[in-house]
Amino acid sequence: MSETKTKETTYKPTSPNSKLDFASLWEYSEAPESSANLEIKDKYDLFIGGKFVKPSKDRYFKSINPSSNEEVTQFAEATQKDVDKAVKAARKAFKGEWSDLNPSSRGKYIYRIARMLQERAREFAIAESIDGGKPIRESRDVDIPLAAAYFFYYAGWADKLEYAFPGKKPEALGVCGQIIPWNFPLLMLAWKIAPALACGNTVVLKPAETTSLTAMMFAELVKDAGLPDGVVNIVTGAGQTGAEIVNHKDIDKIAFTGSTNVGKIIQKSLAGTDKKYTLELGGKGALILFEDAPIDQAVEGIINAIYFNQGHVCCAGSRLLVQENIADKVIMKLKDRLETLIVGDPLDKNTDIGAINSKEQFDRVNSYLELGVEEGAEVYQSKCSVPENGYFIRPTLFTNVSQSNRVVQEEIFGPVLTVQSFRTADEAIEKANNTPFGLAGGVWTDKGSKIFKVGSALRSGVVWANTYNKFDPTSPFGGYKESGVGREGGLHGLSAYLNLK
Ligand code: NAP
Ligand code: MG
Repeated sequence: MSETKTKETTYKPTSPNSKLDFASLWEYSEAPESSANLEIKDKYDLFIGGKFVKPSKDRYFKSINPSSNEEVTQFAEATQKDVDKAVKAARKAFKGEWSDLNPSSRGKYIYRIARMLQERAREFAIAESIDGGKPIRESRDVDIPLAAAYFFYYAGWADKLEYAFPGKKPEALGVCGQIIPWNFPLLMLAWKIAPALACGNTVVLKPAETTSLTAMMFAELVKDAGLPDGVVNIVTGAGQTGAEIVNHKDIDKIAFTGSTNVGKIIQKSLAGTDKKYTLELGGKGALILFEDAPIDQAVEGIINAIYFNQGHVCCAGSRLLVQENIADKVIMKLKDRLETLIVGDPLDKNTDIGAINSKEQFDRVNSYLELGVEEGAEVYQSKCSVPENGYFIRPTLFTNVSQSNRVVQEEIFGPVLTVQSFRTADEAIEKANNTPFGLAGGVWTDKGSKIFKVGSALRSGVVWANTYNKFDPTSPFGGYKESGVGREGGLHGLSAYLNLK
């Protein structure tokens, strides 16, 4: 191992892209954010071997802003040939410069990425909201700071792998293929790239088709950070591009986050190969609310559990199970609270619920709204006005549903909550566990013993108590049953990128 230092670069603490005055970063203002604060290119090429390169077939696809239906930019469509080029670049970096680097220098690069993300946070937040439709308050306060936090956290492990796994000899896997969804674009990228690099791997990542903008801005950041060429490669494209990564012979590990359906296809393709894999898939989280809970606090928790990010959250609490004697009161309070939620412009700092990510997802959620009614549910939707253009859905409650209804069993991935009641803790546990998924759940009660009893009985990778949707880089995340295989985050997430001999 050579004593190579991190390269000196021309990196300056503000982005070459930025027209912003960073002194005023995040200063309080009621004014909406604006795309005028961000320079978006007309089109983005692929990021391979440290350079932006044209796609072999010279084909590009449009990305739209789902709140206005206007084109944001265009991304390159990577073919098999392009994926192969990216894998070769990643292999070359893995065999050479990146593996030769001493681990603390590797850590320094990852720290540098983390700091640069913080410095460019405002641009990334605006881009995330424009390209994906999420409220700026969420991209600003959750997505981007958390993405930086994952890089900081994993940077710290880079030179301590032997302490993390005592008695083992941790070795990098090699080239990792990573495929991410559209609901938390930059954050899912951080969950994947940060631990992979900390362990000494190189990566080829494909962002989702509808939200590739922050991944390409991240590629620019990687270039500015002076990371050795080929350590991070980003290829844009549709599902086929993802499949080319999965099936490439010279990839050592696949890390996928997305739907259970695509996860199953990937698992089949990988069967019989020696590629390692982790799959983070869908969910249908239950929120169990007991009569002894502080009700107003619980109602706030439920609103956050399901309407955060338009309900486009794999671990969303999309099924409320409420104890029978308080059910009417809770439903009334929920309806009152729904009326106060503001649905609209993602760049407006007051917006609670932004745009549905794409036309496809908008149609999908609407078809579930029709299905619920056909299944006999009572539907309640808030009465707020929504913008005319773009894809917006008012926050929705389904009451009078039963366990076998499809709206209770299937992941809707939109701002839609089903409400059921229960009498005993055992009945609540039985209902909570009775879906194909097992990703997340929540319990609201005043009694620690109940939290322990119910929490231990839930077949869920994550259980929150008297809160919901809290994330931290140190804690593992992942699912049981059809919610996936393996864990990301914390030490579990680190071990998924290592051979531990
Ligand atoms: P998706 O349709 O499965 O797509 C995920 C990614 O896979 C996208 O980049 C997609 O490309 C790509 N892809 C599509 N078909 C592929 C194939 N045959 N082979 C390889 N890659 C392929 O999921 P999504 O609609 O983007 O995301 C929503 C889902 O993700 C939900 O089910 C949600 O619960 C889940 N999710 C899970 C977690 C978790 O940690 N468990 C976190 C977030 C989201 P295109 O964009 O071009 O289709
Ligand atoms: Mg878009």
